[in-house]
Amino acid sequence: MSRAHAPVRFHDPGLDAWHFATSALVRCPRCDRVAHAAGARVICRSCGLCRALGPHRSRPALWLRGDTRHGEVWAYNLEHLDLLRRFVAADLRERAPWYEHGRKMTYIGRLPAWVKSAKNRAEILRVIDRMRASVVSG
Ligand SMILES: [Zn+2]
Repeated sequence: MSRAHAPVRFHDPGLDAWHFATSALVRCPRCDRVAHAAGARVICRSCGLCRALGPHRSRPALWLRGDTRHGEVWAYNLEHLDLLRRFVAADLRERAPWYEHGRKMTYIGRLPAWVKSAKNRAEILRVIDRMRASVVSG
């Protein structure tokens, strides 16, 4: 493949953040390592925690968070982080027609301006890659 000089395109799949919230990586409330929140339960492979998430319990903190000089980037899970990464890395960002009419705001559409700014791209990609690596080593 010789696509080195072709601009990288990104097409918004039109999902909102809740699409990814059903399966989230979180910080284990018992051992502080990476755990999985799916449905109404937190499951941790490191310490064996399996706990129901009830209305009277606070939700564990998301695992995938990273600070940039401009603000925080975060994602529910690796699929979500990958979507964000592809958006930030892309040269051409294609918008569906409904953006202009404001009928539907997707996760990508709601991202703050500093995430969309090309001048912050390198820094944000560094933070995203660190976040992704933390899952493998976490
Ligand atoms: Zn644990």
